[in-house]
Amino acid sequence: MKWNTGKTIHLTRPLLPSVDRMTERLQTIWQSGWITNNGSQHGQLERELRHYLGAEHIALFNNGTLALLLGLKALDLTGEIITTPFTFPATVQAIDWNGLTPVFCDIEPETLTIDPTKIEALVTEQTSAILAVHVYGNPCKVEEIQKIADKYGLKVIYDGAHTFGTKWEGRPIGNYGDMTMFSFHATKLFNTIEGGALVFKDGQLAGKLASLKNFGLSGPEEVVLSGLNAKLNEVQAAMGLEVLKLVKEERRKRAQVKQQYDRFLADIPGVRILTSLEGEQSSYQYYVIEIDEALFGASRNDVHEWLNEHAIMTRKYFSPLCSDFPWYAHLPSAQREELPQANRLVSRVLALPYYGELELDVAKAICEVIRQFQSTVSRAAQLRLEGELG
Ligand SMILES: *Cc1c(COP(=O)(O)O)cnc(C)c1O
Repeated sequence: MKWNTGKTIHLTRPLLPSVDRMTERLQTIWQSGWITNNGSQHGQLERELRHYLGAEHIALFNNGTLALLLGLKALDLTGEIITTPFTFPATVQAIDWNGLTPVFCDIEPETLTIDPTKIEALVTEQTSAILAVHVYGNPCKVEEIQKIADKYGLKVIYDGAHTFGTKWEGRPIGNYGDMTMFSFHATKLFNTIEGGALVFKDGQLAGKLASLKNFGLSGPEEVVLSGLNAKLNEVQAAMGLEVLKLVKEERRKRAQVKQQYDRFLADIPGVRILTSLEGEQSSYQYYVIEIDEALFGASRNDVHEWLNEHAIMTRKYFSPLCSDFPWYAHLPSAQREELPQANRLVSRVLALPYYGELELDVAKAICEVIRQFQSTVSRAAQLRLEGELG
């Protein structure tokens, strides 16, 4: 099939409210003259998100990375943090910037989240927490992780950047562990352009986090902690309030795109769908496939290039592995032989274009481009084989 619409299919598109709705809110902000530092938009967004996420406590931040960084700081963690190499750099950079050491644990091949059966062997006297990631919105094995944490007295923090508003076994995903971070970056399902949040169990952390994101101030003339500036401003909060109204419909549309992909990718040899949760459990954040080179006949990189040549943008989420960052080369847990699944899967994953406005016939056409490629390469392999035999 020839791909000839002439337009580039992007990986994602931010959810945008109408300019008129935003203008209305901006007028309110302008009239108030209050543009950051816990304004009324911020207060309203905090209330709405606490409700939406089913959270006991919530704190908003100017991005997810600083939310996570300050969340770890608020928990007074020390020494080593057991985490996953298969994530966005921000997860482990939040560990770094707290002066803590990541200990990489391999992932399990079904969900690509941290493998709980490998965690216990990594616990030492220095371990203070487990930082796990709900990769692509696939929930971690939360019960098993909690069991290990309870046994060794460890905190559990989740990077939930991909799991906005999803439930797991009937409970909001942010109810698991001590703390969960959400990212509101433009590429995430819900966005405030840039932004993030922590939801947490211990209400005593609320004051501490409020201080940490505001230079460690506890009053106009009192500095009690080594904080940062990580406040969400009023324009970001206004954006959030308008975008939040659109999330339900966006999830509905993405569910349809997902159905289309599921249907037309199902029988392509060597393609496995890694984001298969449905309904309230699916985050509808990414649509990711695994390419098995032996079955498909070409590698993930080949598929990525082939799609790019057809103006279809894809991303190798998450490549490279965080354990391959040069400053971790000395860590025993970062060695490739210690992380066989992560190192196997990192060269096989591919995120496809995914957003509500993606037309269903375009989603179908993307599948057909992949199917064509697969049948071409497998036919070529067949002919080569026959040539060798003959
Ligand atoms: C997006 C993302 C982050 C970073 O969030 P920002 O809001 O962009 O700082 C952290 N972890 C994961 C897994 C992410 O996908």
